[in-house]
Parts: sequence; C-alpha cells; structure tokens
Amino acid sequence: MNFILALNMRQKIISLSLDTYELASKKANFSAWVRRKLLEEVKPSEVEYGAYCDRCDITFARIYKSSMLHYNCDKCGNMTTYLGEIE
Ligand SMILES: [Zn+2]
Repeated sequence: MNFILALNMRQKIISLSLDTYELASKKANFSAWVRRKLLEEVKPSEVEYGAYCDRCDITFARIYKSSMLHYNCDKCGNMTTYLGEIE
C-alpha cells in the first residue's frame, strides 16, 4: 500500500453503485485504470503546450496549458520556459 501521493497527483472521491463497486474492486490498480480511461478520451490531434528546460535541453509537451505555464523540469526540477502551442 502506497501512502505517499506523488506531488503531481490529486485525489478525487467518486461514488460507485454496488455493481460498479464490484467491478472496480477487481482492478489491481483502479486509479491507474481510471487515469488511462480518461486519457483515452482525449483526442490525440488536440493541440499541446510546450515548456523548455535550458539546463537539460528538453522540451516537455502536455495538453493542458495551465500545467505548462509554470512547469518544473521532470529531470532537474528547474523552472522551464513556456513555449506556447507546439506541434
Ligand atoms: Zn531540466
């Protein structure tokens, strides 16, 4: 059991009926399954927003603008430079 929630994770309480609760209980990692299903709904053609780390020379891209405006590099943790919409 993992008691430490990663910094980039948020919790959301959901309500399940008896039958959907049974189905959810059969998933080894229900949270990961929900995350995957949600991301499957996002059209891959949607525009992405970029952020660039000077130190690592890496560009990060995400579908949510708000998360990229002040994005910390995945590798070094430095504040990245917002690039705007990228292809
Ligand atoms: Zn970096």
